Amino acid sequence: MIGRSWFVVRRSPERAQRGSRPELRRFETTGSCTPLRTLRAPTDHGRRVRAPRRSRSGLRRAAVILALLLALAPAGAQDPRQPAGIERYRNYLLTDPAPDPTGGAVRVTFLGTATLLFDDGETKLMTDGFLSRPPLRKVIGKIETDPKVVDAALEKAGATKLAALFVAHSHYDHAFDCAYVTRKTGAILYGSASTLNVGRGGDVPEERMVRFDYDKEYAFGKFTVKVLRARHSPAIRFLNDDLGQTIDRPLKQPASFKDYKEGGAYDFLIRHGPNAILVNAGGSYIEGSRDNVRADAVFVTTAMLGLQRPAFQTAFYDETIGKVRPKLVVPIHWDNFMTPLSDQLKPQFDPADAWDPMIRRLRADRIRFGVLQGYGRATLFVRGKE
Ligand SMILES: [Zn+2]
Repeated sequence: MIGRSWFVVRRSPERAQRGSRPELRRFETTGSCTPLRTLRAPTDHGRRVRAPRRSRSGLRRAAVILALLLALAPAGAQDPRQPAGIERYRNYLLTDPAPDPTGGAVRVTFLGTATLLFDDGETKLMTDGFLSRPPLRKVIGKIETDPKVVDAALEKAGATKLAALFVAHSHYDHAFDCAYVTRKTGAILYGSASTLNVGRGGDVPEERMVRFDYDKEYAFGKFTVKVLRARHSPAIRFLNDDLGQTIDRPLKQPASFKDYKEGGAYDFLIRHGPNAILVNAGGSYIEGSRDNVRADAVFVTTAMLGLQRPAFQTAFYDETIGKVRPKLVVPIHWDNFMTPLSDQLKPQFDPADAWDPMIRRLRADRIRFGVLQGYGRATLFVRGKE
């Protein structure tokens, strides 16, 4: 997913009269500007911000870019050993050594955003494969896969050979590198018609691509992957207001991030022997759609969850975790994906707004909450056990 809410710099008439500094407020995606909570004032970063006299849309566009800069600025100011907002969750870090999986164990490796590597010692599957993670200064222009960055990440993750790559939707923070990763790893690319056009634009041969269908199950070694109907988190004007739109012809790089239309949203139910893993990549839910889905581990996208209303968060929990009754829940897509993949990922936003309410409910439901850092690994279960 791409973020749901962004920030605008506003100055209330009263404050303007008093000459006080402007406030940074959240900008809701409905098009109306709804201040949810006053955040850090731009002068905190040693610069003065004045709202430019421009057209309304020009102002908003500038505000989105400015807000991104401001939102991302604190990351660089932090001690790299103490990523902002993450250190509070150190007790939840999954730190088991996760040796090479044998005897029915499945090991997962978190590679940022919704990119996960699943490995049972015989077969490796990946979701999304977004590894280039271009910085903001590039994202505002035309961007292309960085082979050196992707190669290094695949090497470090032990993912140089994959059976399959499943892409959850076609926004750039999911599908951007799928063509290169498919070609490089020998994978078969599974995705929507839009994702396959990303593959075609990146010269993936037709015989290496499969357009997947809802509720179909695909087998790889001892794994099966079922594609589930899903929903993307709500749209944001100028950023991801393309939900339901498709990529209708081969998409060649360099391209704008805006060229990566959503193309439908999908979740994955990955089975291995008696165990199952649910990957929620869209950050939303469809009521009732998981009534009959059970999984031992659930990976949930929490990117913008903390900015949603409490009722949304409650329903999201009920539909994605409560009904599925896992033993373990791991948040994904919480990291600032405009910084390089590393083992010290920083959050895009303070994770507390999404994670704390979730942890409270998980505790009540006696479900374990676990956090994976970049390249972090965990053994999800051995045969028949957690
Ligand atoms: Zn998206």
